[in-house]
Amino acid sequence: MTNTCTVLLTFDFDAEALWEGSFGVTTPSTLSRGAYGANLGLPRILALLERYGLPATIFVPGITAERYPDLVRRARDAGHEVGHHGYLHVSPATQTEEEERAALEKGLEVLQKLTGERPLGYRSPSWELSRHSLRLLAEYGFLYDSSLMAWDAPYFVPADDGARTLVEIPISWELDDAPYFLFAFRPAYRVGLADSDRVFEIWRVEFEAAYAEGGTVCYTMHPQIIGRHHRLRMLERLIQHIRQYPGARFTRAVDAARALRSSA
Ligand SMILES: [Zn+2]
Repeated sequence: MTNTCTVLLTFDFDAEALWEGSFGVTTPSTLSRGAYGANLGLPRILALLERYGLPATIFVPGITAERYPDLVRRARDAGHEVGHHGYLHVSPATQTEEEERAALEKGLEVLQKLTGERPLGYRSPSWELSRHSLRLLAEYGFLYDSSLMAWDAPYFVPADDGARTLVEIPISWELDDAPYFLFAFRPAYRVGLADSDRVFEIWRVEFEAAYAEGGTVCYTMHPQIIGRHHRLRMLERLIQHIRQYPGARFTRAVDAARALRSSA
């Protein structure tokens, strides 16, 4: 019998909003790091995905979609899923319920207008949710959230009334490029600039173990981080490695969420 593994390549296309929203830094050099993700990072990623014929999920803050509408449309036209990633890239955990609701609505409005489709997936900027988030996501008709870390494979997050409607596509810091590679003097974040071979080894083993279990592996990357040449080569090596395994399937997050829904 052939093993299976669901492989999710997800990209958080934050651009400048990462620095403005999460770190409150608006100096030109810092913001230009975000612009690198739009100028070179995402185009390189889209070219790589096209070369291998792979589907991906791109989470975009509303303001980034407004700044780079053509890039977001290009991703959509290539068959990738475009998901909601807040509006100004501000953590819902720091917002009032009204502020969170406003950011959800604004992000929905921008992405829907741009892509012609209502996003079905949500990933919190900063990967924190508030006490209200899951209820709000269900209220606004999202199929899934991708901000929690309780399992490897998709699972249901029960609503207050116990209904199993909202799917969780779990993430993990170990499978995120930022903790390994992000570097900044201000705010101090100096663990970055890791050896990409080391990260490749961690991500390779995570895939192989998920494959052995017939499970799921979900990678999260940021165009302004993974879009540098040496890291993109690492991602390409990983793709080549995974493709050698029969039964390993690259899937968009929305399709993994739908598969769980239909099997329940
Ligand atoms: Zn983000």
